[in-house]
Amino acid sequence: MERFSTGNGIDRNKAMVEQLQRYGIFNSKRVAETMEKVDRALFVPDGTPAYVDSPMAIGYNVTISAPHMHAMCLQLLEKNLQPGMHALDVGSGTGYLTACFALMVGPEGRAVGVEHIPELVTSSIQNIEKSEAAGLLKQGSLSINVGDGRQGWPEFAPYDAIHVGAAAREIPQPLIDQLKPGGRMVIPVGNVFQDLKVVDKNLDGSLSIRNETSVRYVPLTSRDAQLQGS
Ligand code: SAH
Repeated sequence: MERFSTGNGIDRNKAMVEQLQRYGIFNSKRVAETMEKVDRALFVPDGTPAYVDSPMAIGYNVTISAPHMHAMCLQLLEKNLQPGMHALDVGSGTGYLTACFALMVGPEGRAVGVEHIPELVTSSIQNIEKSEAAGLLKQGSLSINVGDGRQGWPEFAPYDAIHVGAAAREIPQPLIDQLKPGGRMVIPVGNVFQDLKVVDKNLDGSLSIRNETSVRYVPLTSRDAQLQGS
């Protein structure tokens, strides 16, 4: 993807987003506008090729997801990321997707990241401070918290949108409980090979679940297990 891009960061970021659309990964104008505003280079470690469509190591045995996965998840959640809505990003890592959520739900909404590695929470806040979403972080509609994301983040529940950026063996019950009726959760479920599941909570509280695609994410696990690489 790099070779198609020239110019400064934000132009190259735009070229990456345009290419994802050309490849048919997504077609939402709102998602494109959001991804164009959030320069991916601010969220990857220095020296990492920011605009290549691949996951990249960010330390602590984890990766920032590939741009096509970010785009796909944003599009799957788009209707639940309207201005004023509440969004939860479990395993927020670099903060990239939380920043996108915050721009989509706007200052009247809530975008909440939960990440269990405190150092990643600190660096994700620094990343966001350099990005288009900095104002929302300052104003308070965007926050990133240290915690076990399997417990969700009850403070701002119920959520219209929940994204889980790490693979669970099964869907954690607290996340189901914190999903609003009419809300949607996108979560990879499985062991080594996983299904990206789209979980819709109907207005009567029942769930409709479908598999969107096969994926490979790092595990949603305990901090100790992750740091031991198991
Ligand atoms: N979506 C993010 C990160 C993906 S990697 C991005 O693209 O930047 C998955 C993240 O989930 C990692 O940062 C990992 O530390 C975190 N994680 C794994 N298990 C977790 C748990 N139980 N609670 C909170 N975060 C968790």
